Amino acid sequence: MKKLFRPTEYYRPMTVEEAVSLLAKYGERARPIAGGTDLLVEKPEVECLVDITRLGLNYVKSEGDHLKIGAATTLSEVLDSKLLKREPYSVLWEEASRMGDPSIRNTATVGGNICSAVPSADFPPGLIALEAKAKILNPTGERTVTLEEFFLGPRKTVLQKGELLAEIQVPPQPARTAAVFLKKGRTRRDIALVNAAVRVTLGLNGACEDARIVLGAVAPTPLRAGKAEALVKGRKLEASLVEEAAETASEETRPISDVRASAEYRRELSRVFVKHALTQAADKALRGG
Ligand SMILES: Cc1cc2nc3c(=O)[nH]c(=O)nc-3n(C[C@H](O)[C@H](O)[C@H](O)COP(=O)(O)OP(=O)(O)OC[C@H]3O[C@@H](n4cnc5c(N)ncnc54)[C@H](O)[C@@H]3O)c2cc1C
Repeated sequence: MKKLFRPTEYYRPMTVEEAVSLLAKYGERARPIAGGTDLLVEKPEVECLVDITRLGLNYVKSEGDHLKIGAATTLSEVLDSKLLKREPYSVLWEEASRMGDPSIRNTATVGGNICSAVPSADFPPGLIALEAKAKILNPTGERTVTLEEFFLGPRKTVLQKGELLAEIQVPPQPARTAAVFLKKGRTRRDIALVNAAVRVTLGLNGACEDARIVLGAVAPTPLRAGKAEALVKGRKLEASLVEEAAETASEETRPISDVRASAEYRRELSRVFVKHALTQAADKALRGG
């Protein structure tokens, strides 16, 4: 039988403590709601919605040596942030700029994009490329997990019922580092058939000191192409090596065929994206980001 979306309770708490205690009280029967652009499409069978847009969790700030993004920050607020125009953080700006249309960007949030855990989501690849962590609140305190560990499967995350994603924390980035985001959707405002974020750090000798290659929509969770990363580490990113790494990354993908694209197309797109993203990121890093 079709599930019904008929919540009877709607709370708009003003503090994170109140929000967390409401989520804990209702457990399985409640869901946080931020922009609602995913939730109102999914229409889960819940009794209670906890609006998290008034908790002061909308900010992009530099604190200590970390960059911090509140979970309720909208995509438009990301695009307004000067901090996210700097290399390599601009990969996150690029991601926001490629999502939805202005009406979606004005309401949709960074945290909602992550917590939906849809394989095609645009923020996770860039955040994983930048080694970001998720700060999670619960009634007994808080915990932090890497964004890579956060995703368990389509629409499945490490969040327990009653937990709230509060903040994304991006650690300081190494020198001579740049990152690139590429995406292909059916149209410019569509969700990704494939997306890719690649971060490259060059050594003083111009060789690739480190690379993080992350692909979306080609596996149940965002995929790190570990074999391709290992292949380029410590070597000059010459055209033949980049081709080989791109081919390797494509072989690491596990895409499905669906109404949007075939698995073969997604594999080929992954190869092309990794080739271009590695080349562009290395070029930007060489020019000083
Ligand atoms: C027309 C349209 C175009 C779109 N285009 C794109 C696109 O190009 N790329 C893309 O990636 N997505 C796209 N989306 C999907 C969606 O807009 C994004 O995923 C958006 O960022 C979700 O944020 P939200 O605030 O609306 O989440 P909501 O719908 O409010 O929440 C989504 C889920 O996350 C949970 N949640 C939200 N915040 C938290 C939190 N802080 N802690 C714990 N759980 C939380 C909710 O309970 C819910 O289960 C599109 C959607 C539409 C309708």
